[in-house]
Amino acid sequence: MLSLQKLPVTLLYITKEAVTQEPVCTLQNHIETVMLASPQEVANSSTPRTCDAILADLTIDSKKGIPLIERMQSLYPDVPLFLMIDFEHPLHLTKAISLGVTQYFSKDTDAIKIAETISDYFNTQVRDFYKMEISKDGKILSISDSFARLLSYDASRLCHRSLQTVMEPLQAKESFDCFIHSFFQRDTLHALFRKKDGERITMGGNILKEVTREGKHTWVTGWFPLEWLEKTNDRIRAKLQREIYLKSLMKFHAAIGRELFFSQSADIFLQNVIGKLHEIDENMSGFFLENRIDRLENAIYSTIETSDFSSVFENSIDLQNEENERLFMPLFLSAKHQQTVFISNISHLPSSPMKIALSKAGYVTMAAIPMKVGNYRHAEGIMSLLFKKHHRYDKEEFQMWQDIATTIAIGIEGIETRRERDILIEKLDKIAHTDNLTGALNRRRGVEILEYEISRSKRYGNTFSVIFLDMDHFKKINDVHGHGMGDKVLIQAVETIKESIRATDSIIRWGGEEFLIVLPETTLDDAIFFAEKLRAKIEHQKTDIPQPITASFGVAQWQPDMSFDDLIIKSDEKMYEAKRLGRNRIAY
Ligand code: GH3
Ligand code: MG
Ligand code: MG
Repeated sequence: MLSLQKLPVTLLYITKEAVTQEPVCTLQNHIETVMLASPQEVANSSTPRTCDAILADLTIDSKKGIPLIERMQSLYPDVPLFLMIDFEHPLHLTKAISLGVTQYFSKDTDAIKIAETISDYFNTQVRDFYKMEISKDGKILSISDSFARLLSYDASRLCHRSLQTVMEPLQAKESFDCFIHSFFQRDTLHALFRKKDGERITMGGNILKEVTREGKHTWVTGWFPLEWLEKTNDRIRAKLQREIYLKSLMKFHAAIGRELFFSQSADIFLQNVIGKLHEIDENMSGFFLENRIDRLENAIYSTIETSDFSSVFENSIDLQNEENERLFMPLFLSAKHQQTVFISNISHLPSSPMKIALSKAGYVTMAAIPMKVGNYRHAEGIMSLLFKKHHRYDKEEFQMWQDIATTIAIGIEGIETRRERDILIEKLDKIAHTDNLTGALNRRRGVEILEYEISRSKRYGNTFSVIFLDMDHFKKINDVHGHGMGDKVLIQAVETIKESIRATDSIIRWGGEEFLIVLPETTLDDAIFFAEKLRAKIEHQKTDIPQPITASFGVAQWQPDMSFDDLIIKSDEKMYEAKRLGRNRIAY
């Protein structure tokens, strides 16, 4: 990360193309001194120019490039060398690496990135950077060129001068001797350094090694501006914050998995997902738009705190209408090209009601990410992220968001498939349990229901009743009016029964023209009352045949000692009793 302050180093920039002004300007914005030199100049010179780092833009070929690197290595043995090369010749690259080049950039790397890398190099190598050898009585025995330059002196002018020329205690009261003495005791010291023009820099120093020269002890010390340490701390802090952020992104991703499992519909799913965005970062919101082939619609944006916003997405966004590119810029482009579109500053968008609403709500950065399963599939929708603070993605985070978008797309598809499957299962279940002539339940389902009622009544001490009914003289109806009319009468009878029973009751086609009605939580008396009502209703219903249709009813209440068969036999016997007694009646 670059700071606003320039890196206090001198960079020698070796390039053939002295005319390429732009990278030079950018480098100059971030590095205190940038000197230009041509490769020929370096190849022909025998005295090095004073510099802290070299950046060389070269063609690495065995004819010129490699010898030039070797030349630079011998001219500037301790100076870090940064190379811009084309990676087309791996063998040359291997050779360059073996020569000990510090860092490589491809030719198209932008100047900011280069400045950042050089800056990182110096900020992490701080302790070796500014060196000074001092004697115990506080004299400068030698000082590195770069250190002298930082203090605006010539290195040779400072040698054998007192440390006091360039250094003073942090506390003005403290005597210089005590101050230096404490350094030798603790191996470390914070001090004020004074440049030639009087400007002060606070620096931290360490004793790097003790040397004995002609019987005298001297100390090689290393110094770094404390501002660098702060910068390092800032970097660590920023890194930590980022780790926390990425972790909450992972948590968010996991939460989507849970929502996916429990949400009943795609809309609820999206609503719940977007509701969790602010858990990642309170400055963050977002919205979803469903993607139909030629339009974006059905916006879900629960976390956006402005009512103006809902009017912006009131209608669907027609993707055929070029005008919408301007009005809904990132969303439109993202849907049109099925690519992530990132807007680092919303104020750069062309003017539109969307831009006004977003700016009014205080959003700064926006991203539009297509939610799609696989590269060649059409996106289910567009996920838009909004940040109230300026947000810069890196590759890792960018990839995470795309994975999240994919999970959401899988979720939408999955929920839809699941719903279709549930509907299908329901249909199949119905088919499997229904008599297809009358729509009553079939006998198999009837057996299940009775078994269930028996076990439930046993467990809870409840009771239930059944009515067994058989159409009277049905053979005759078939004979006189035809089988088709017989069918119709059966259908009609079931309709009449269905109209009369409660939702918890069941009507089962037990055999040809025999039906069983199961009445949970019903006593014999109530069942008799209901059977009588039903008998009358069937008798009086209008049909396509002149004479009334009637049925005979056998009613029985389940008793705790009764088995399934006992109950069926009992109600069947009662039904026959009703037949014997003259039909169109009930027996119990
Ligand atoms: P009872 O009053 O004694 O019950 O006389 P019944 O004629 O109804 O006598 P039975 O129960 O022996 O005969 C039932 C008749 O119902 C026989 C069969 O032809 C007819 N049947 C059974 N299932 C169907 C069906 O699905 N459609 C039609 N149309 N008739 C059926
Ligand atoms: Mg019968
Ligand atoms: Mg019959």
